[in-house]
Amino acid sequence: MKLKDRLIAAFFIMIAMPILLLAITAGTILSMQTSAIKKSYDVETDTLQVITNPIQIMNRLTRGTYNDIKLAALRNPELLEDKNYIEGLNKKLVDKYSFIAVRKGQDFIYVGNSRKLNMIEDNLQSFGDYSTEVDGGTYIEGDHNFLVKAQDFYFSDEKEGTVFVITDLNTIIPQIKAAGVQSVISVLLILNFTAVILMLWIYRSILKPLNILRVGMNQIKEGDLDYSVVSDTEDEIGQLCEDFEEMRIRLKEQIDSRLQYEEDIKELISNISHDLKTPLTAIKGYSEGLLDGVADTPQKHEKYLKTIFTKANDMSILVDELAFYAKIDCNTIPYSFKEINLREYFDDCIEDLGLDLEVKNIEIRYRNEIGPSVEVVADTEQLKRVISNIIGNAVKYIDKPKGILQIRIHDIGAYVQVEIEDNGVGIPKGDIPFIFERFYRADASRNSKKGGSGLGLAISKKIIEDHLGKIWAESEPGIGTTVTFTLKKSTKRCCEEGKASTGKEL
Ligand code: ADP
Repeated sequence: MKLKDRLIAAFFIMIAMPILLLAITAGTILSMQTSAIKKSYDVETDTLQVITNPIQIMNRLTRGTYNDIKLAALRNPELLEDKNYIEGLNKKLVDKYSFIAVRKGQDFIYVGNSRKLNMIEDNLQSFGDYSTEVDGGTYIEGDHNFLVKAQDFYFSDEKEGTVFVITDLNTIIPQIKAAGVQSVISVLLILNFTAVILMLWIYRSILKPLNILRVGMNQIKEGDLDYSVVSDTEDEIGQLCEDFEEMRIRLKEQIDSRLQYEEDIKELISNISHDLKTPLTAIKGYSEGLLDGVADTPQKHEKYLKTIFTKANDMSILVDELAFYAKIDCNTIPYSFKEINLREYFDDCIEDLGLDLEVKNIEIRYRNEIGPSVEVVADTEQLKRVISNIIGNAVKYIDKPKGILQIRIHDIGAYVQVEIEDNGVGIPKGDIPFIFERFYRADASRNSKKGGSGLGLAISKKIIEDHLGKIWAESEPGIGTTVTFTLKKSTKRCCEEGKASTGKEL
């Protein structure tokens, strides 16, 4: 659930839950107390009355006794002078917070509770002032509140008399009191309960995931980029955790690739210094030989100079390759794409290479299966670089007395596939996945005297990918290696001759 929806739900729960719980609790408390009132005082009441009109309940408590006394006053007034009779009725009223008082003329001849009577004596009305129609009695307000029911009558000696049934309203009956106390406690408990439930809910849905996020951030601050933040919620915070996790992964990738880059640079420096040192040592040795006069014949002189020239050339190639790789790695190679007829292009290429390979006793077996009009969009110079790198490697790693280089070109639909196979040392299985990575050289080649920077195939891969093709290698150690690459066929309209680009606009 979204955080916004949760807050709306929390708002309604905050209002609805206490109301519902209060209604249930109040209902239970009141019905319990109502039945307790009925049991204790034999008074029928309903739950609503307990809250709305407790005085009415107090009134009903004394109704039975009051009726008895009223009848006695009207029919047998002498009974009201019988102390035992009145005492008996008064006893019944004690538990109902009431008492009886009988007035004869101006004097009270019986008082059930003189202390309480003193409190209201002045407020009691004279004979004839009480309406006989009023059933509920009179409410007397003061420091102490009373409910007074009165009945005027004549004693047997014709004297005026009034009998009072007085109820003390300050002593609210225990059931009503209990209902009040229980209701207050219930309100407090319900409010606390609702608050705790809401707090837990909000804690679980907001604070907990926020805490996970905070821990994750601290871990990253401490440099631990492996600490992953996982949140199982689908709200805004869950989304935030996901974004944070994505950021962590990207950051880690960036840092890893940066570290890798730094490692590569270190490795490159060590490779280059190693690869430059070999020809430099030779140049130094031969030039010392020349200076010291060791080359004392014209033939030796020429041999020394040729060696110096060749080694300097190797160094120059290495430096060029490095500079080129730096450019290609930053996408700053200005490609010059144009449509080329692949058949013609390869025919020319093989012709160029043929003589050189023949000298090295390497036989070329060239099979071009594509149609004479197949065209690809390519930068001829960079494509040549790829072919030279692959063939250069093949030549470098051919270890058989008779080298065989097979070049096959197939039409595979939208692409043309070029395979270059040699019968050289081959590449160990474990090295194959890495040979297109920059500076990677299989151990065997590193330890050999073959030279090389480990950049040739990385450069080739980048160039082929910039031509929207693919490049891969298969090899059988001891038997040979096949390097294959594909080139996308031209679709005519996509080519702009001579367009300089970073390679993606084919
Ligand atoms: P290098 O300058 O070392 O040849 P490359 O990037 O051209 O660098 O090649 C990477 C590695 O792949 C080489 O060091 C070598 O171990 C291996 N390799 C590439 N081509 C061949 C091949 N035709 N035969 C055997 N090993 C090869």
